[in-house]
Amino acid sequence: MIVAKFGGSSLADSDVFRQVRGIIEDDPQRRFIVVSAPGKRHSRDAKITDMLMDCHRKAQIGQSFDVEFAGVYGRFRELATQLGMPGALDEPLGELRTAIQEGTTRDYIVSRGEYLCARLMAAWMNLPFVDARDVVRFNRHGRLMLEDTLRLLREHLLKHERAVLPGFYGADSEGAIHTFTRGGSDISGALAAAAVDAELYENWTDVTGFRAVDPRIIPDASFISTLTYRELRELSYMGASVMHEEAIFPVRHAGIPTSIRNTGNPQHPGTLILPSPRQIGRLPAVTGIAGKRGFSTIILEKNQMNDEIGFGRKVLSVLEENHLNFEHLPTGIDALCVMVNSQALLKVRQKVLDEIEQAVHPDHISVQEGIALVACVGAGLFRMHGTIARLFSAVSESGIPIRTMFQAPSELSIIIGVNEGDLEKAIISIYDAFIR
Ligand code: ASP
Repeated sequence: MIVAKFGGSSLADSDVFRQVRGIIEDDPQRRFIVVSAPGKRHSRDAKITDMLMDCHRKAQIGQSFDVEFAGVYGRFRELATQLGMPGALDEPLGELRTAIQEGTTRDYIVSRGEYLCARLMAAWMNLPFVDARDVVRFNRHGRLMLEDTLRLLREHLLKHERAVLPGFYGADSEGAIHTFTRGGSDISGALAAAAVDAELYENWTDVTGFRAVDPRIIPDASFISTLTYRELRELSYMGASVMHEEAIFPVRHAGIPTSIRNTGNPQHPGTLILPSPRQIGRLPAVTGIAGKRGFSTIILEKNQMNDEIGFGRKVLSVLEENHLNFEHLPTGIDALCVMVNSQALLKVRQKVLDEIEQAVHPDHISVQEGIALVACVGAGLFRMHGTIARLFSAVSESGIPIRTMFQAPSELSIIIGVNEGDLEKAIISIYDAFIR
């Protein structure tokens, strides 16, 4: 059994609707279909969700939302007409207009993109519609109630051979609608997959999977055919993004693989994300490379620091009291470095340095700014001889000074720090050495 989630670009017009239908009908295993709201048809177009937000913004300040609503109405009406069912959404669209007029909530309004899209898809394909309101449970404060949601999804979905479920929203026990954060249909899809214990969660989008490097740096960067959830997590933390981060947890927890596929190119196998590296077979040394600018290092040196119990705790307490998150903590014998986000440090810099000074009396304290981190991620990184040597040679042969380095304890990634200006060059040199 497969749960297939289709993103906004896969539902933007009637042509892609037909492609989606072809994909669903192509495999009887694709039983539960989760849809986003229609996205952009071309680069200057607007997403339905954004148009709905505009309606809410106008209504909230007591202004006419006629123009904004006409945009939403027009898109759905055109879509329905092109699918041969012109009046299919007239009633719910009318209800939506009245609800906005009567001052309904923001979450209710923005959730209607998914609601209307799923209703149209279900009617057009003659499939049952399961409303997320009845099966995705939030508490009154808008927090997901996981156990209740999984139970409700299981109960309601498994009654049907096939069904269409709108993503992105759910409701509390009183029926008030709550949404996830933007892009949250990925989460709904993953919850549905976990609830019905699917063999596979398919996430259909407009890219052919996950690339080894951001294509803005290497336009022809190769696609990753398989990777693990842990590798994905490391790459996402460093800025790579295809799927909503929170979406990963329900399927990962349930041990269900996720497949990222391209609606416009369904023959392409895309990227398969697996719970365990054992399932991948032969592991490449480097699966992907990601980088991020904007780090600073607070460097503390003190003779005999190594013997001073509590030194690290005192330093980290100062950060905690100043609400400063530390990203990495490379240490030496008599030196401790705390790597933090430069922007966040800026606001509290002098206060933090003074307080550290008072707390641990270092011999020397300094701050290095302008550091970019490059993460080379690969479950096979440490299984192969000489990988690390190759990595450093690649970077240094490109004339890039390495300012810091550390190996993640997970043995999944090596992180090197370079000057911000060298970030792209460093990524290219590692890509050329391992992947190209
Ligand atoms: N339609 C929502 C958004 O634009 C949710 C989604 O597409 O996943 O963020």
